[in-house]
Amino acid sequence: MSTEPVRESPDVYDVAIVGAGPAGLSAALNLVRARRHTIVIDGNRPRNAATFHSHGFITRDGVSPLELRKLARQELQEYPHYEYHQAMVTAITRVDGGFSVASKAGLQKSEYTARTVVIATGVTEVMPALPTLRAFYGTSIHSCIECDGYEERGGHLAMIGETDDLADRAMLLSQWSSDIIVFTNGVGTVTDMDEAVLADRGITVDRRALDDVVGDQTGLTGIRIATGEVVPRSAAFVRPIYEPALAYVDSLGLATGIDGHLVVDAEGRTSLPGVYAAGDSAEPGPRQLIVAAGQGARVASALNGDLARAVFANPAAPAYAGAPSAAPVDSLPATVEPALARDRH
Ligand SMILES: Cc1cc2nc3c(=O)[nH]c(=O)nc-3n(C[C@H](O)[C@H](O)[C@H](O)COP(=O)(O)OP(=O)(O)OC[C@H]3O[C@@H](n4cnc5c(N)ncnc54)[C@H](O)[C@@H]3O)c2cc1C
Repeated sequence: MSTEPVRESPDVYDVAIVGAGPAGLSAALNLVRARRHTIVIDGNRPRNAATFHSHGFITRDGVSPLELRKLARQELQEYPHYEYHQAMVTAITRVDGGFSVASKAGLQKSEYTARTVVIATGVTEVMPALPTLRAFYGTSIHSCIECDGYEERGGHLAMIGETDDLADRAMLLSQWSSDIIVFTNGVGTVTDMDEAVLADRGITVDRRALDDVVGDQTGLTGIRIATGEVVPRSAAFVRPIYEPALAYVDSLGLATGIDGHLVVDAEGRTSLPGVYAAGDSAEPGPRQLIVAAGQGARVASALNGDLARAVFANPAAPAYAGAPSAAPVDSLPATVEPALARDRH
């Protein structure tokens, strides 16, 4: 008897992975190695494309984000169970035996059916409304302190944001420089007590409204206050507000946390059997490439294991070719513990 895993129908994938960042690609690699028929659908707009060098990924420190993706996709192409489709997923809905995934690339619309889904579409960033900020984002304005703090070590740094965790961000940043000014743009909150703690370490807080950032070909040179004054700075860390763009799964009613991220259990199962999530869409706040890749591998292991065990729970559904059908999606294990599943906001 063949040991090639059964495929319910040539039109039904075992897994549809939405998003081909490190989370989605890592999940894909582990799933195709488990011989799960996997389609990866990706809009190919990496959030980190703004930078030329990404840091902290073992063996790939300093690699360009696009190169990292290219290498991963080259590896995946060696596997017969892998398919890739460049498109934006517009809707995922429940259908008999799994999920229907609708996508759009220009005028071309496609629809795929899969027994399970992995959501790995990352987050979008809402920045303080400073007109020129994006021009320096990824080169001398950064959001991830752990990723780019080393390159800006010893610099004259700004911490810009409109949230209530700026003091904490500045404390973290002080590992890389002692010259830091926190700019709240008149919106972000730093308590008097936190301001005093920061002042003890030479970090000042500027609560004035900002006009813009300024710079030249060499990079950022300063922060322009609404009054016109320019405060010289050589680099900045900005605190965006992160929003997972998950409208395409609205109809599934997945549990989300107060920050809008998907609630998952320790292995990446969402509140709906058959739907898994990994990477920045599943964590409060963006992490790092290697963390997202690790989560992708973890979710692949859980998903593959769930499908394998479901076959044994359903003796009428042997796993290998020549046998009739696979386990139904409803027989996959319960996902998020009710206590973990918080209301949507
Ligand atoms: C400027 C910048 C610099 C960074 N530098 C570093 C660094 O040096 N080191 C580091 O470790 N981390 C860095 N990060 C963080 C890192 O990029 C993220 O943590 C990581 O990419 C998250 O991986 P992910 O797979 O969850 O999502 P992403 O990498 O964001 O990938 C999500 C993918 O999903 C696709 N997508 C979104 N919606 C849809 C849809 N509806 N349909 C189809 N596809 C969709 C997107 O096009 C994208 O390709 C940086 C981030 C930024 C913004």
